[in-house]
Amino acid sequence: MKIAVFSTRRYDRAYLAAANTSGHELSFFESNLTPATIPLTVAHDAVCVFVNDDINATVIQSLAANGVELILTRSAGFNHIDLDAAAKHKITVARVPAYSPEAVAEHTVALILSLNRKTHRAYNRVREQNFSLEGLAGFDLKGKTVGIIGTGKIGRAFARIMNGFGCELLAFDPFPHPEVTALGARYVELDELFASSRIVSLHCPLTPETHHLIDDSAIERMPDGVMLINTSRGALVDTPAVIRGLKNSKIGSLGLDVYEEEADMFFQDLSDKVLQDDVFARLLTFPNVLITAHQAFFTDEALTRIAETTLENAAHFEAGTEPVHRASYGK
Ligand code: NAD
Repeated sequence: MKIAVFSTRRYDRAYLAAANTSGHELSFFESNLTPATIPLTVAHDAVCVFVNDDINATVIQSLAANGVELILTRSAGFNHIDLDAAAKHKITVARVPAYSPEAVAEHTVALILSLNRKTHRAYNRVREQNFSLEGLAGFDLKGKTVGIIGTGKIGRAFARIMNGFGCELLAFDPFPHPEVTALGARYVELDELFASSRIVSLHCPLTPETHHLIDDSAIERMPDGVMLINTSRGALVDTPAVIRGLKNSKIGSLGLDVYEEEADMFFQDLSDKVLQDDVFARLLTFPNVLITAHQAFFTDEALTRIAETTLENAAHFEAGTEPVHRASYGK
C-alpha cells in the first residue's frame, strides 16, 4: 500500500521502517495533515496520522477526492477524526486499540509520585545546593483513596498499580469491569468519586459526553487539596476552571500529560519562540503543577507495537482480511 505518513518525527520513522515487513510504500512527512498539506496525499491509498492531526469533515472530503480509502491513526484515541464524515465517504478508520496500557499507567504513577514527593522541585534545589526540606512534605499513598474515571485497558493497568501501593480504589465507568471489582475497587457515581478521592485520575476517552468533565462544578465537589491527574485527553478538563481551583488551593496538585490546546505546541521544540498561550503560561507558574508533553505512551515497547499494529491494519485492509482495528464509539 502507498501510505502518506504525517506528523512524523525521527523516532516515528525509525519504528515504522523497522516494522514495515509487508513492504508498504511509506512517504514520511513531518508536517501535520491539514487542508494545506492535503496535496501530499495524491496517489496514496492511505494516510497515517497522529493525535494532533485534525481530521475533520473538510479534510476527509479532500482525502476522498484524492482516492484515499484508509486512515490509520497511530493512537488508541480517535477523537481527532470525524468518524461520521469518514463513513459517509466510505473511508475506513483504523487505530491501535492497545499498544501498552502499562506505558500510560506507569507514566500516570510517575506524575503522582513526583507531585506528591515534589521530586521536580527537589531536583532543582539539590542542583543549587539548597538542601532544605521546607515545603517538600508529601503523604503516604497507602490507605489513600484514588478515584479512577474510565476503567478500560489503561484505567485497569493503573488500578493494578495503585492497588499494589495499598490505595483504596473508587471507579466510575458506564461499563464496569470485573477485574476492577476483583481488586477490591468499588464502582460509584461520579459525585461520590469526586467527594471521596484524594487523587482523581482520568482514563476515559474524549467524547461529547466527557468534554470538560472536570469543570468548576466537579472541582467544587472534590476535597480540599485534591490531586488531579490527566493523562487521557486535554479537553476532558476545563483548564481555566482548574487554574481557579489551583489559585484557591482547592486543587492541591495537578499532573497533566495532555492539554486542550496542545496541538500547536506539543511534539515540537519551541524553546526559542515566545509562548503564545496565556492559559498554558499561567499553568507553568504553579509549583504544584507538573506537565509533560503527551509522552505517557512513549516507551520502546509502545512505539514498536504502534508501528506494527498500524502497518498490520494496512496489510489486512489491503488483503481484505481481519483484524483491521476499526475505530468506533460502540462497545
Ligand atoms: P479503552 O477504550 O480501553 O477504555 C476507555 C474506558 O473509558 C472504557 O472502559 C469506557 O467504557 C470508559 N468510558 C467511556 N465513556 C466514559 C465516561 N463518560 N466516563 C467514564 N468512563 C467512560 O481505552 P484506553 O486504552 O484505556 O485509553 C483511554 C484513553 O487514554 C484514550 O481514549 C486516550 O484518550 C488516552 N490515551 C492517552 C495516551 C497518552 O500518551 N497520554 C496514550 C494512549 C491513550
